Amino acid sequence: MSLRRTCSPSHESSTLEGIGNFSDDKLQKWWTKTTQLFRLHSPNLKKYDEMPSFCRERHIRQAYRPNPSPVKYCITSALHPTNETLNFWTHFLPMLFLMSRHFNLSQTLNWDREDVKIISYPFWTYSMGCCVLLGCSSFAHMFNCVSARVRHICFCTDYGAISIYSVAGTIVYFYLVSPPHCHGFNEDHSEFYIPVATALAILSHVLCCHTRFPHVKARYLLRTLTYVMPFVVISTPTLLRLRDHVTIPTMEANYTKLQFSIIPVVGAEPAEVQSTAFSYVYDHQSNACPINESCIENKRLVQQQQETSTSDAEDNPKSAHLCGLAETTFPLYYTLHLMFFLVAAFFNVTRFPEQKFPGRFDVVGSSHQFFHMFIALGIIAQSVIVEEALLEAIEYSSAHKTLDSFDGVTAWSTLGWMSSVAVLLSVIVFIYSRALPSRH
Ligand SMILES: [Zn+2]
Repeated sequence: MSLRRTCSPSHESSTLEGIGNFSDDKLQKWWTKTTQLFRLHSPNLKKYDEMPSFCRERHIRQAYRPNPSPVKYCITSALHPTNETLNFWTHFLPMLFLMSRHFNLSQTLNWDREDVKIISYPFWTYSMGCCVLLGCSSFAHMFNCVSARVRHICFCTDYGAISIYSVAGTIVYFYLVSPPHCHGFNEDHSEFYIPVATALAILSHVLCCHTRFPHVKARYLLRTLTYVMPFVVISTPTLLRLRDHVTIPTMEANYTKLQFSIIPVVGAEPAEVQSTAFSYVYDHQSNACPINESCIENKRLVQQQQETSTSDAEDNPKSAHLCGLAETTFPLYYTLHLMFFLVAAFFNVTRFPEQKFPGRFDVVGSSHQFFHMFIALGIIAQSVIVEEALLEAIEYSSAHKTLDSFDGVTAWSTLGWMSSVAVLLSVIVFIYSRALPSRH
């Protein structure tokens, strides 16, 4: 049934009477289209049994958009209550939020400085990775009813966007948040960190696309597990960093002492000093101890830390890396990031609540909407850490006039690497969109 046939002329005329008389034809047409766009009754929605098998979601009984549908219908359906409406908005709004947040952050930076440009490359790679993930996901849910083949393209692109986000996360962890050699990894081995994580992300994409073949069972579980694998590899140095926070209480106590004593972090307030005490984000050249007696003990601890660092740096120049950035936000926000992703995985695997109550959460409250919301929250929590790391790294570079810690950071090694992966993933999407059956 066409969209035009589902519109009720009597409904439109009564609405027009309600808002006054329009003599002008153009204004009348505009009003008719506007009321169609914003009305709360979606045209031509289908029930589960009326849909082709490849469009059916188990436990979702109604509010399906027809497949095939015109592109214009897909766009306007974002304003109607269908079973895809909130799937679109739950990733589209967080994407706008992150874009505005990162844009506002960029407005605070001095782009005339070369070091700011270089240090920002990993950050912009991460920012683009997040926006690609959220944007591709929301548009996949918007346009998946255009045709069977477009549906495959939409969701294979969606899986590819998860891989791009994984690669972007790898890059920002490696260069900014948690360089592996800061957390016990062998320097030579950590050179393989980005290539291995990238290979796993690409493999995950292929496996996820494969789950779209109709004979594959337990596809939601498989898709979730498929992305757990690169997530664990990518996050291992960062998980080790979190473990250090949990298992070394004596160090925590020392951090508290140092808050009130000797470490003159450049441009930092005492609260920031506390959390960055054992990182390199302070002035190594200052030995001032102006406050009180306990300062002497703290000074000894810091000097000990500096000596260890200096000796490491002499043994291996690359180990003199800016470690421990974003200590203020890292423990809380990284824990939140992990918890939100775990909850998201729970909803994606269990399909709760619609699995328990089929037909009751067709439009609002389905597991996929919760999955989207918790993924978005996890990304926002992670972004807080990355933003702080960026600002601290720029501050350190400004104070010490050095970019030693960002030796390997170039436009190619960050944005270029991620873009190359995106091209490769696009080829995989193309291959699978041809290979997957368009009717089943
Ligand atoms: Zn989705």
